[in-house]
Amino acid sequence: MAPTIDTKTPIHHDLPTPDPETPLRPRQPYKLSTLCVTVENPSMKDQYGSSSVPIYQSATFKGVGNEYDYSRSGNPTRSHLEHHIAKISSASRAFAVSSGMAALDVILRLLKPGDEIIAGDDLYGGTNRLLTFIRSHVGVTVHHVDTTDPNAVIPFIHPTKTAMVLLESPTNPLLKIADLALISKEVKERSPGAIVVVDNTMMSPYLQRPLEHGADIVYDSGTKYLSGHHDLMAGMITCNRDDLAKQIAFTINSVGNALTPIDCFLLLRGVKTMAVRMDRQQTSSQLVATYLHSLGFKVYYPGLPDHPGRDIHERISDGNGAVLSFETGDKELSEKIVASTRLWGISVSFGCVNSLISMPCVMSHASIDPATRAARGLPEDLIRLCVGIEDPTDLLDDLEHALVDAGAIALNPQQNKYVRVPPVHAVLNKAVEQLAIGSTSKNTNTVDREWFVSAPGKVILFGEHAVVHGVTAIAASVDLRCYGLVSPRNDGKMSVRFNDIDNFYGEWEVEGLPWDKSSVLSKGDSHPDELDAQLIEAIHAGPLKELGPEKSQARNASLAFLYMYIKLAGTERPSVHFGARSTLPVGAGLGSSASFSACAATALLLLTHRIVIPPIPTPISAEHPHLSHQGRYALERASADEANRWAFVAEKILHGNPSGVDNSVAVFGGALTYCRPGFGKPSGMEGIQGFGSLRFLLTNSKVPRDTKKLVAGVGLMKQEQPEVVGAILEAIENISSQAKRSLADSSEFGRENLLRDLSAMINENHKHLVSLGVSHPSLETIREKTAASPYNLSTKLTGAGGGGCAVTLIPDNFSEASMKNLLVELSQCRFDPYLTSVGGSGLGVLSPYAEHRSLGAGVSRGQVTPPETPDEAEDVPSNYDSIRASFETKSTSELPGWAHDLGKWLYV
Ligand code: PLP
Repeated sequence: MAPTIDTKTPIHHDLPTPDPETPLRPRQPYKLSTLCVTVENPSMKDQYGSSSVPIYQSATFKGVGNEYDYSRSGNPTRSHLEHHIAKISSASRAFAVSSGMAALDVILRLLKPGDEIIAGDDLYGGTNRLLTFIRSHVGVTVHHVDTTDPNAVIPFIHPTKTAMVLLESPTNPLLKIADLALISKEVKERSPGAIVVVDNTMMSPYLQRPLEHGADIVYDSGTKYLSGHHDLMAGMITCNRDDLAKQIAFTINSVGNALTPIDCFLLLRGVKTMAVRMDRQQTSSQLVATYLHSLGFKVYYPGLPDHPGRDIHERISDGNGAVLSFETGDKELSEKIVASTRLWGISVSFGCVNSLISMPCVMSHASIDPATRAARGLPEDLIRLCVGIEDPTDLLDDLEHALVDAGAIALNPQQNKYVRVPPVHAVLNKAVEQLAIGSTSKNTNTVDREWFVSAPGKVILFGEHAVVHGVTAIAASVDLRCYGLVSPRNDGKMSVRFNDIDNFYGEWEVEGLPWDKSSVLSKGDSHPDELDAQLIEAIHAGPLKELGPEKSQARNASLAFLYMYIKLAGTERPSVHFGARSTLPVGAGLGSSASFSACAATALLLLTHRIVIPPIPTPISAEHPHLSHQGRYALERASADEANRWAFVAEKILHGNPSGVDNSVAVFGGALTYCRPGFGKPSGMEGIQGFGSLRFLLTNSKVPRDTKKLVAGVGLMKQEQPEVVGAILEAIENISSQAKRSLADSSEFGRENLLRDLSAMINENHKHLVSLGVSHPSLETIREKTAASPYNLSTKLTGAGGGGCAVTLIPDNFSEASMKNLLVELSQCRFDPYLTSVGGSGLGVLSPYAEHRSLGAGVSRGQVTPPETPDEAEDVPSNYDSIRASFETKSTSELPGWAHDLGKWLYV
């Protein structure tokens, strides 16, 4: 049960409410707004009766043993400010320092090595940065937990080690609410020595006084509401405990970060108007939040009825503040909105009399790395609004203009009001939609050809897990493939069959799909960074509503396909069937989903003429039945890039936050290095040129994995043991760069040397992954079996680990007989071994040209290839037999051979 707290208890301050003049007309205690404006300190009367506190712009004071001698230790203007802030904060002591961060720095100096802090997971970015620093430099352990849930905090409270609990409520920028009173009580009960610290910047003492709710220390960035004018930097620390006050005063005097006299003066002046500013700002914030909410945006503001924790907030605070945030569903759209406002200034910070607009992920919270931002659920498209004191009508009008200009809302003539536009490239789509209205005829276009595509899986050779933390990873294609076939139906329906996912079959009326929930992407338009949440929701609620959680794989694959189908085929609405098959084990960490994504994306891009296959120059060498990436370039780079972009969209639907490595390997084949952005070094993907294909044994342990949990586990370990994990990451980075060099220069070093080096690196990399805790007994068994004599092979886990697959390097001279025995041994342990080669071709399309097809009614080999790049509408001959029936019924082992024999495959 939360303790009941009387927030209306009069605060203790030394400006006494005057005695009642008569018993019939008693005096009320002064309201906080009166206290804010009444700067009086009975023990510091001004000798001239000045109505504003003078600025004692003096470093030193004459005399010995007087109250003031040196301004680092104390200054009369500062004393006035500190007295005034203590009064309005229910505090006995207050300290003014040079910034909010300086305030936190002073507070954190109460800690010593070995102490533990529990802090929120949605903190101000600068707070996060300072906590990271003290973790690595002071040896303090920091646990970031979701402080909106007291039950998430409790397990981390240690009776002696927990020294500090650091809270914000509401948080910035997601306005999450923490029950300051309940958490303070739980902390005191479980760890009496721990102190509860609250960053109260978002509220100011006018709206919330955490010392009344059990906090030991409260600090505010005075730069914000206390000052109100963005004309100074300041930090205020308040407390009611003499022992803490003494230590804080000691630090400030030692460090010398107290606020300067002139800034103390300015801050004091600002505080006098705080109540009127805040009242106005809050009222306008409520209007803005309600307006955005009514348009259907996801809005974060404690003043909205459905805001999580609103009841707690009402109990501990006196208002909702003037910061709110909202999601648009599309980062690009958010950027356009932010750029389109005039009255709302683009700026970091908040609390100013002027209204501000910002995108936390690219501004105030950019210092938190993207992986952590994603893990903490901070949407990249989030817009933060800090409402000022301008006329609310003007603020709403300016915001509406910006939303219209950016294409986030549009006038609905029937309703004669602005409504939200689905967040898909909204600006460009305004024009495109006009055109599309005419062209989205109810009649589905006739489809007269099939497209058969395939894409390889991938293995991570080196750097898995470490890649999440900025280390370079090396990924390569495997010659196990996924195949996709899109065939005409022309009966007003569309359907999918996924043979490898319980042989799932789904069928829908084309016109019954939620077309109205998505705007069409016209040719040449790329998909925005963010997925269209509204369309995803509509597909779940419509075509996929019958698929329960037991069918989650089929549901996800269908969702990815339907999403792309609706986005890409919106103007044509073709009635087609799509089938996908895989020779890759599904869900074993070999990139089966990315190769599915690449196939689905490519099939749809071909179907909708967004990519075209140019005719192949003849003659094609007879030795090369397939045109591959290795110098025999057949699919245009621009087409491959487009396929890759859409495969990435599908991967996002399937995985939330993919790195893009798997789909890039599925499309481009070969091997590549990858480094995530956001770690202060060159990021992105780079192909490894000159990489020759290598033989590997892939062994599927068949133990299912929870990739997210494994990644989170390593993240936690990194937080708790930064040095240990840091050293492992460095070692893995070294392996990756050595492997990259060796693979690229294999011809120079000689194949034997390469294989020997790789063997050593495989063993070493695996050892590090074991130290990160991501191996599994089944993987260790595979390692032991393959390492045992007479095989003496090197094996490592690949991908997330915790099950899934192991990769074993097979030297060129490994005997057939040994291979046979090893395969039998592994199969006897109920593992699935696949002998495969690594580093081969990427995306493939079965040539649509008649002379390249060995099957086909009415066409014969040798028919003339069209002389020029075909017209988009009529790019290739169409009259050949469907291969759909064979495709769906061939056994998995027959599939690659059968596909190979169909005709000429054109590879990226
Ligand atoms: N706490 C919160 C919630 C903040 O938003 C900020 C600054 O934006 C700070 C602390 C740091 O304050 P300052 O910039 O004054 O150092």
